[in-house]
Amino acid sequence: MEEIRDTVILGSGCAGLTAAIYTARANLKPLVLEGHEPGGQLSITTLVENFPGWPEGIQGPELIERMKQQAAHFGAEFKTSHLNSVDLNVHPFKLKTSHGEIHTRTLIIASGASARWLGLPSEQALIGRGVSSCATCDGFFFNGQEIAVVGGGDTAMEEALFLTRFATKVYVLHRRESFRASKVMLERATANPKIEFMTNTVVEEVRGVEEQSVTGLHIRNVKTGEKSILPVTGLFLGIGHEPNAKMFHGQIDLDEDGYIVTRDQVHTKVAGVFACGDVQDRRYRQAITAAGTGCMAALEAEKFLEEHGH
Ligand code: NAP
Repeated sequence: MEEIRDTVILGSGCAGLTAAIYTARANLKPLVLEGHEPGGQLSITTLVENFPGWPEGIQGPELIERMKQQAAHFGAEFKTSHLNSVDLNVHPFKLKTSHGEIHTRTLIIASGASARWLGLPSEQALIGRGVSSCATCDGFFFNGQEIAVVGGGDTAMEEALFLTRFATKVYVLHRRESFRASKVMLERATANPKIEFMTNTVVEEVRGVEEQSVTGLHIRNVKTGEKSILPVTGLFLGIGHEPNAKMFHGQIDLDEDGYIVTRDQVHTKVAGVFACGDVQDRRYRQAITAAGTGCMAALEAEKFLEEHGH
């Protein structure tokens, strides 16, 4: 007889780990499935200054590690596994993973969102060869070089600021005149002498596909139409994220951008399936709000199980 789990949590970012802490403390012995980006976005960020309780700030990976230890301490189990498909039309729900089939009475989806790319063929060909979406992971490789960051939000500012530790110059290329970034982040970036802003500028192609290493960018000013080559050796994308919810298409509701649609915060249209964190939140997208909805999903899962006699 196959084992039936009370709760499976998909994702080990801030939302998933908070759900794990709560469900583990409720003695539901949650299984947390960690995908290809364990720890979520916090694990690839640097200093987190706005998570309550850390007056001097805390490094994202450390915050995640502490949450994981807290969940494990109460009995949460962790497995690195890729989810191939789900069947939410049966109960207990069926999950087909790279390590076999799992049956569960409740499912908490906390699969987050992944970095977005420009979609240029040359960009795709050079990922890992000078093109990156993670400054924290790859900044080190650009010591003493000139690089570019694309985007006008907080992520782009954060990446640009971080990259000034290594690069001699960081160009921030933004497709519009005005920025989406918060005032404080924009001011920090503007005040940094290594950062140069190029607004109304788009990347048309990345040079260096033949050489297998970025040698420059074909850029265009969208106001003047002027085209030029920016001689940088690195390109970092800071243009937002895509929700990781494609595998649920057709089984629960997704909005036009692929985010999971929830009602009463964390309920999906399937009873017993809850969603929390960035996979359902296109508005706040903060560590603390992800943790908050992770807690809500855990409490709702607990309530569901109780109501169904488990
Ligand atoms: P975002 O705020 O959605 O900004 C994305 C930026 O990328 C926008 O400026 C957008 O341009 C640009 N963009 C999108 N697609 C593009 C494309 N195809 N080509 C060129 N540019 C493109 O995303 P985010 O910066 O990742 O931030 C997401 C959330 O996380 C925000 O709420 C943010 O405050 C938060 N966050 C906070 C911190 C922090 O506090 N330390 C750090 C990172 C993120 P347009 O402006 O023209 O749309």
